[in-house]
Amino acid sequence: MSAKTRIEVLTLFPKMFECIFSEGIVGRARKNKIIEIKIRDIRKYSGDKNRKVDDRPYGGGSGMVMKAGPVHRAIEDAGGRVILLSPQGKQFNQAVALALSRYRRLLLVCGRYEGIDERIMKDVDEEISIGDYVLTGGELPAMVVVDSVVRLIPGVIKESESFEKDSFFDGLLDYPHYTRPRNFRGMKVPDVLLSGNHEKIRLWRARQSLKNTLLKRRDLLERAKLSREQKDILLSLKKKYN
Ligand code: SAM
Repeated sequence: MSAKTRIEVLTLFPKMFECIFSEGIVGRARKNKIIEIKIRDIRKYSGDKNRKVDDRPYGGGSGMVMKAGPVHRAIEDAGGRVILLSPQGKQFNQAVALALSRYRRLLLVCGRYEGIDERIMKDVDEEISIGDYVLTGGELPAMVVVDSVVRLIPGVIKESESFEKDSFFDGLLDYPHYTRPRNFRGMKVPDVLLSGNHEKIRLWRARQSLKNTLLKRRDLLERAKLSREQKDILLSLKKKYN
């Protein structure tokens, strides 16, 4: 399949990815050849018999810096849209995941130590951060990015419904979900979900989604594009919960 999405990761710790990318939806998408994932060991590009990929920082100070050469050679070899995982990058969210899911070739670069020599930025298309905290390496962020991007690639999740109703897809949080049994420790499944009335269920879910967003992430409501119906529901929710 030539149109299949190819995601590559550059890392000093390839083994970290083995389990995560072999299980669940990502593992299944690989087996079904909808996506291809390749992990490249940056050390292979060291050009040094000791496989050295880091050195002390110019100007002094603590820690080591990843050398630009090995990362540059690995990027040239792999190709694709180059994403550097970095706490200095733009904050990752569902909209960024959706944008990335449209690229046929992605290359995620994981830093370690104090980061990579700044001159690598010439090879980088965008810097992405998974949040305002500092991790020891870009591997966990790369896993987060790959996991959320892969499930948005057409064909990976069978019914596109599954992600179109997820939190953030339409700028709102998801509604609550229930499954068997009907009664769990005295807590009953809401009657409407057992009614078989699809219109009532749709309206209940729309209300619950707005209620969750209002009570848990009010900030999202400022940016969400709401329909007339959603605006009316929100108005009644605000009267009740404000
Ligand atoms: N000195 C760097 C700074 O303050 O910007 C932090 C380096 S961090 C210890 C090592 C590597 O972990 C980074 O190069 C980056 O690849 C990755 N990393 C750490 N926190 C991250 C975050 N929040 N999002 C994405 N990548 C992160």
